[in-house]
Amino acid sequence: MDSLRALQSAQLSWNPGRSDRHSEQQNSDQDQDEYSPTPLGGEELSEEEEQAEGLRHQQEILSEYGLWAGGQNLLEECARRLGHTMARPDLCYGFQALDTERPLASSCANGMVYFSRGLLERLSLPEVCYFGAHEIAHTELRHYATRRRRLSDLQQAIPAQAGSAVRLRVDQAAVLAVRHQEEFEADHQAAVWLDFDLAGRALARLEELCARFSPEMLTVPSHPTFAARIARIQQGQAAPDMVSYCYSLLN
Ligand SMILES: [Zn+2]
Repeated sequence: MDSLRALQSAQLSWNPGRSDRHSEQQNSDQDQDEYSPTPLGGEELSEEEEQAEGLRHQQEILSEYGLWAGGQNLLEECARRLGHTMARPDLCYGFQALDTERPLASSCANGMVYFSRGLLERLSLPEVCYFGAHEIAHTELRHYATRRRRLSDLQQAIPAQAGSAVRLRVDQAAVLAVRHQEEFEADHQAAVWLDFDLAGRALARLEELCARFSPEMLTVPSHPTFAARIARIQQGQAAPDMVSYCYSLLN
């Protein structure tokens, strides 16, 4: 199933009152990433709104997973190695470990970054650092705060008659294109900060873990395929042009 078809069949909707996660995982019932074909407006969130959304998202994560104390030393070393990547003066970053087997990492817009026990126990320290850097990149690049504005810009860049089936399909593809762009950008930024060979190895390793422990994570519509992500990293490519990428999803 291609991503666009998966999006349509899942009948997902965007609720502007809830935060989308920057997450490397998703529940099988796909309740964590929500989409809409039409944004309510193209505005970006203020820093205060980012903080509030981050806190709300943090509370949502902690209501779903318990914390795992066993990962503390690893996270402290990871945070030490990634200190140079955390540049936003308005944020206070923090790392915590979640007590779940599922191999996941997730960032909140207020600077919190979560890693699962399944990720920490099965990846090497450099690989964990790569995913830490990927999550920090989402926050440094203000992906959550700019998502709605980027979607609006992209939708306006692709002409189609209002109310038509084509318009609907374009708008749905645009939602995916923005989300995929965020992942490509975070992958690339983390590789620039750390190392491109490490990035390729870490992504391949996460793909293996997902296949083994959470196969539903291999096909979440919000993320490009691991094959596409790894190919771009191996070729040293930054994120694709979003309009061209959106058209490619329609083919
Ligand atoms: Zn990501």
